[in-house]
Amino acid sequence: MPEAPSGRRPYMVGNWKMHKTIVEARAYVEELLSSLGAAGGHVDVGVCPPYTALAAAVDGFDGTGVRVFAQNMSAARDGAETGEVSAPMLLELGVAGVVLGHSERRRDQGETDRALGEKVLAALDAGLEPILCVGETEQERDGGEMQRRLRHQVQEGLDQVPPERLGEVTIAYEPVWAIGTDRSATPEQAQEAIAFVRALVGDRSEEAAERVRVLYGGSVKPDNAADIFSQPDVDGALVGGASLEAADFAELVAAAAG
Ligand code: PEP
Repeated sequence: MPEAPSGRRPYMVGNWKMHKTIVEARAYVEELLSSLGAAGGHVDVGVCPPYTALAAAVDGFDGTGVRVFAQNMSAARDGAETGEVSAPMLLELGVAGVVLGHSERRRDQGETDRALGEKVLAALDAGLEPILCVGETEQERDGGEMQRRLRHQVQEGLDQVPPERLGEVTIAYEPVWAIGTDRSATPEQAQEAIAFVRALVGDRSEEAAERVRVLYGGSVKPDNAADIFSQPDVDGALVGGASLEAADFAELVAAAAG
């Protein structure tokens, strides 16, 4: 995936979900750094370890350009929120950004679009890069509701971001039915939805729509990555299962490098 005419650099982010201890994270960092090779020079690369392994990943990737993301955060700076972590806490660790609104959290923790809008703004204000996840369920797609769902998620999620800062957000289009199912969207489905997401950003700012990176997520694997990445609006991927082995993730980064 050579750099788009718009100048958007390919972007690959691995979501570890609730996998890897500190010891395992350290081993992964070493293996990824030795497997990335030249591809790492053409692609922005990030990983999202669980909270407990963030410091080890930040330390291991220090000076390499690989970005470390948290998988969630609170919109509040501090307060009576047992079990939560704030943007200043992540920043102090050296974390680069945060994934917000992953469908597993929307489903299991009841994250709402309105609450996510506050989190996106809090992340940006703190100096963290938000990756906002959006995507329809199978039922919504089958019922012709995909665009309505995406519109709501994108508009509410970015509602509080001033137009001139929209380009600092990364969006991951992750159809829920494709996550962890081995049933990736087709390249055409990914392109259609991602072009729609980009157009929604364009309703707020044409310039931001050109700049914002929109990733595809959902069962990306070495055998389907190149076709998905060949689509003009797809800027890379948020990868779950296939990012858990460093060598596999490095293979996907190489596919994104084109
Ligand atoms: C994800 O969890 O964001 C994801 C895309 O998972 P998978 O690649 O395993 O479908």
